[in-house]
Amino acid sequence: MGVAENLELVRKEIPGHVTLVAVTKTKPVETILEAYRAGHRDFGENRVQELMQKKESLPADIRWHMVGHLQSNKVKLLVPFVHMIHGVDSLKLLKVIEKESAENNRVTDVLLQVHIAREETKFGLSEEELDALLYSEEFGRVTHTRIRGLMGMATFTENREQVRREFRYLKGLFDRLRGSVFAGSDAFNQLSMGMSGDYRLALEEGSTMVRIGSLIFGPRNQ
Ligand SMILES: *Cc1c(COP(=O)(O)O)cnc(C)c1O
Repeated sequence: MGVAENLELVRKEIPGHVTLVAVTKTKPVETILEAYRAGHRDFGENRVQELMQKKESLPADIRWHMVGHLQSNKVKLLVPFVHMIHGVDSLKLLKVIEKESAENNRVTDVLLQVHIAREETKFGLSEEELDALLYSEEFGRVTHTRIRGLMGMATFTENREQVRREFRYLKGLFDRLRGSVFAGSDAFNQLSMGMSGDYRLALEEGSTMVRIGSLIFGPRNQ
């Protein structure tokens, strides 16, 4: 089946208030255009260099989501246009985004990434680190970076109950922050969780943004 058909099938399963980020890493511009022509506008990449290259050859109204781990020295390239940065996992990175956003005279929307998986390899803040960041003096001075919510990646496992527990934990954290640090901030309303293998579970557990690649574009050749 083609990209447009796959996209249509996935869309049917996603409630209207949930954003589908089509993750296009390793896929050529021509493939991305198929989704674009089918009306899709939210696309995600996990490498800055690859994102920049593709952006050059694609329509300007695409909303680009940076979904992968981001290094501070690459922030400068993204800030002028990026729609959302999903993987903010340190105060250091947040401060660089803040500085570049101020210089560009814009407010950058970001999600704080929380480590919810059992795998050591995955990135993200622990709950303690998240609280330390949010209650830090420096965070109080942030004016050009808007925290839109949280992002997390579950463990890669067949154990559905474990994945569900991890998503539920992230949702609990999201609700706690909505009722405390972000009480009164309407902008903190996004929960980015769920990929090709676990997006149904993520939706059941309250996701508002799913990041789906292989289910739409086919397996990656790596
Ligand atoms: C690649 C990637 C995805 C999409 O993965 P699929 O399993 O192909 O849907 C989602 N989120 C992040 C951060 C990724 O790097």
